[in-house]
Amino acid sequence: MKTKYLIIGNSAGGIAAAEAIREVDKKGALVIVSDEAHHTYSRPLISKYLSGERHKEGILFRPASFYEDNNITCLTGERVDQLGIKEGSARLENGQTIGWQKLLLATGGKPIMPRMKGMDKRGVFNFITLNDAVEIDGYLERVKRAVVIGGGLIGTSATEALVKRGIAVTVVEMKDRMLNTLLDEATSRLAETAVEKAGVSIITGHTVAEVLGRGTVCGAVLDDGHEIACEMVVVAIGVFPRVELTQGTEIEINRGIVVDKYMATNVAGVYACGDAAEAYDFVYGSGRLVSIWPNAYVGGRTAGYNMAGKKMEYAGGTAMNSINYFGLDIVTAGLVMPADVSGHEVFTKQNDSVYQRVVVKENHIVGMAFIGDIERSGIVFGLMRDRVDISGIKEQLLADDFGLAHLPPELWRERLAVPAGARTVTSQEEVEEDYSSE
Ligand SMILES: Cc1cc2nc3c(=O)[nH]c(=O)nc-3n(C[C@H](O)[C@H](O)[C@H](O)COP(=O)(O)OP(=O)(O)OC[C@H]3O[C@@H](n4cnc5c(N)ncnc54)[C@H](O)[C@@H]3O)c2cc1C
Repeated sequence: MKTKYLIIGNSAGGIAAAEAIREVDKKGALVIVSDEAHHTYSRPLISKYLSGERHKEGILFRPASFYEDNNITCLTGERVDQLGIKEGSARLENGQTIGWQKLLLATGGKPIMPRMKGMDKRGVFNFITLNDAVEIDGYLERVKRAVVIGGGLIGTSATEALVKRGIAVTVVEMKDRMLNTLLDEATSRLAETAVEKAGVSIITGHTVAEVLGRGTVCGAVLDDGHEIACEMVVVAIGVFPRVELTQGTEIEINRGIVVDKYMATNVAGVYACGDAAEAYDFVYGSGRLVSIWPNAYVGGRTAGYNMAGKKMEYAGGTAMNSINYFGLDIVTAGLVMPADVSGHEVFTKQNDSVYQRVVVKENHIVGMAFIGDIERSGIVFGLMRDRVDISGIKEQLLADDFGLAHLPPELWRERLAVPAGARTVTSQEEVEEDYSSE
């Protein structure tokens, strides 16, 4: 098989790239390969599937007719196991070879698996793919208690779904608090209170050392010897960029695949995006792994335009999450907890159920966390993303009535004016809209 464009990965990055390619080039042959057997779906929504709130069709990222409508050949359930960069080829596990002119690696991440005894027992799961959710769902009838290893975004998401299915969950988090890479201490505590109110036990400062059971899971042993009885263990300690296809090629990798502002790798004709790539982070001013859906999507669109010959720069993304766990709204972005606070100003506002934090460096917002009341998080994020000098309005950022009117007139006029016909991939608004409509 020969194609003009080959995209490996059928999720946020891959689909966004395919759509951008089709905006520019309606006819060029386009093949997507995915080792998942499903139509493209919204990965963050697998928890809604597991909780029973959505059917499979309800978490589709694009309509069932998407590939046909866009003249795309999508090979699902097929894994690419080798790239021939010089020949412009990709070999599938089934032995088939696909020749390509432009290649996109939208391969995402793979779960980190701890090395511990008992990981091979029935009842140990990951929570990354729709298949994981389907398998957990099929196993639940014999489960009353579950241990979730990892209190990050994925672990919390799995926990919420299991609780909604009536399972008693214990979260075991190695660090001193849940959601610690995302939230500062005060915000984490509010989140933990909401999680505990739902009946979840949280154990911090420990990890699971062994999974117990004869063939099937019957418990977990912590690193201090404490035993927890359970019928299921969900491992959610993070993801790793999936870069194995670059091995033995000249494609440069750091922790993820290194890309420039066009999402191009150092090898001509080869692009990368999403969780597999180190795309530009406007807060850090350099390429970085930021494993979130909107960045994968915007990076994918940028890659797609450039693959099809329309020059487009990626304006940069940053860590940004807009989530609701256990009824609590949380929005975070950028550098919420700078490692070195010197040179930063931190503005906070807190009451029993609300916490807001804005981190400022050299009169520019570099981080924010809003929990409980997120109404003004959008405008603060806009000021951060657009690198607006906020010297005159710093003190008002967290005021109850803060809004566009607080900005100097020249700024809000500029921000309200949208040039006719303007449509770029420099903004995340379109994506957030897409995301929040899910
Ligand atoms: C449970 C969960 C909850 C999440 N919640 C949020 C959230 O609330 N907000 C947020 O912003 N982000 C969230 N994320 C992260 C978000 O889903 C990812 O950032 C996003 O999916 C990355 O998209 P991607 O296109 O880079 O890769 P992925 O979505 O990882 O897709 C990559 C695809 O490529 C396939 N693939 C890889 N290698 C090969 C190969 N060799 N051959 C064939 N196919 C291959 C993979 O199987 C996979 O299907 C969540 C993730 C999980 C797991």
